[in-house]
Amino acid sequence: MLTRFLLWAVFLLLVGRAIRRFFAGLTEGASPRPRPQRPSGPPEKGELMIRDPVCGTFVLPSRAASMRDRSGTHYFCSDTCRQAYIKAPRTA
Ligand SMILES: [Zn+2]
Repeated sequence: MLTRFLLWAVFLLLVGRAIRRFFAGLTEGASPRPRPQRPSGPPEKGELMIRDPVCGTFVLPSRAASMRDRSGTHYFCSDTCRQAYIKAPRTA
C-alpha cells in the first residue's frame, strides 16, 4: 500500500518535472535571455551595508576602509573618512 503510494508520488514528481522542463525549453527557445554580465568585483548578495559614521554613506564591508576600536569595527567609504574618524571619533 505504502510502496504503491510512494511509487505514484515519484512518478508524478518526475512527470511534473519533465513537463516543467519542456515548457521552460519552449519559452527559452523563443527568447534566449542574455546572461547578465557580472562586473569584476560584484558585491556579495545579501551582504549588509554599513553606515560610514563620518559622512553617513552606506558601504559594503568587503570594499570599505575599516578600523577597529573599543566599540567595535567601523567601516568607511574612504581613507579620508577613516582618518577623520581617527582624529575625532566622537563625531560618530
Ligand atoms: Zn565617508
